[in-house]
Amino acid sequence: MATEKTLPQHAPMNLFRSAGAELVVGGLPLAQLAARAGSTPFYAYDRGLLTQRVAELRAALPQAVKLHYAMKANPLPALVAHMAGLVDGIDVASGGELAVALESGADPHEISFAGPGKRATELRQAVEAGILVNVESFREIDLLATIAREFGKAARVAVRVNPDFELKSSGMKMGGGPKQFGIDAEQTPQALAGIGKAGLAFEGFHLFAGSQNLKAEAIVEAQQKSYELALRLAQDAPAPVRFLNLGGGFGIPYFPGEQRLELAPIGVNLAALVERAQTELPQAELVIELGRYLVGEAGIYVTRVLDRKISRGQVFLVCDGGLNHHLSASGNFGQVIRKNYPVAIGNRMDATEKEIASVVGPLCTPLDLLADRMELARAEPGDLVVIFQSGAYGASASPQAFLGHPPVAEVLV
Ligand SMILES: *Cc1c(COP(=O)(O)O)cnc(C)c1O
Repeated sequence: MATEKTLPQHAPMNLFRSAGAELVVGGLPLAQLAARAGSTPFYAYDRGLLTQRVAELRAALPQAVKLHYAMKANPLPALVAHMAGLVDGIDVASGGELAVALESGADPHEISFAGPGKRATELRQAVEAGILVNVESFREIDLLATIAREFGKAARVAVRVNPDFELKSSGMKMGGGPKQFGIDAEQTPQALAGIGKAGLAFEGFHLFAGSQNLKAEAIVEAQQKSYELALRLAQDAPAPVRFLNLGGGFGIPYFPGEQRLELAPIGVNLAALVERAQTELPQAELVIELGRYLVGEAGIYVTRVLDRKISRGQVFLVCDGGLNHHLSASGNFGQVIRKNYPVAIGNRMDATEKEIASVVGPLCTPLDLLADRMELARAEPGDLVVIFQSGAYGASASPQAFLGHPPVAEVLV
């Protein structure tokens, strides 16, 4: 009898199929895809999978809930344009992202802008474009009042509230306790008074408690508490709530032992909130905003093996890209303990000969580690290492200039 595997495994990476030895992305076998990208390393994003993910979400959540794409997860203009055609709105976090969102074909009325430390120039861009600003400080309220007067235009605002609770089991907490994000719930009535006095066009509330959560019950609890908090704060609002962004935080499985998020309980809870909102906040549209969950699983990072080295019995596959392109897979983007992303040798998917190997990049630092002693197909120079779950927080979230290697290519297929 085979010994039972007790080590935690990666969730199956079954969104991409293989044809013979090769992984297939967007209908292209890996070698063709590499030729299409022009050089390694590269990121590839599969349009079909992006479309499929949005459809799955729409099926699991109530129709009345609007779906926004938080483009900081992946700001590639072609990808943002594809997403703009699928979702109900785009959330941006800088003037640079706003420019891409405006060019993506998204309706400016459905673009919202969150983030601490908005510059006056960014707020001018926002008012001029007619997008919704999620204000995060009293300074932003004052600045918007001045800009609205200057332009003779309405400044559309929602208050981003730093809630008085946290999103449990979240990879990154972005609300609750002292935070640079949003206006503390306790100070929100005062902010609402300021918005009313300044004559800004108040539209609602934005709450974002955290990111990368795989526990449906934690997300349900945060959405429930966010709704209750918004309902309380609405009593002091200068106008009816028309927009209630309950955040997101839906995670994807990266590491051994992690399982895909269950959408059904979230759908049930949102349906109950939609029902309540019909009487309690009758003009409000409920919104969730997702980045990683929409795009993360649709993307891979591909790097070519340059060298195969054995050091004191341990196999190292030295590749042409590493943490300079994919900081998060190296474990240096907010992880407390480094763990391996799911990795495969993408041109040897049907290999029977396996070995334990480490995948490293070309940078002269021990941090440049993409896979630490994983079981992989036996690989040789020229082979293509694939890192799955790489559609979010990849190229744009990595220190590409570090050590002066070429930037990474990106293709949407
Ligand atoms: C980062 C961020 C998101 C996206 O988070 P994901 O974990 O990628 O879904 C959404 N909203 C706000 C305000 C953010 O800061």
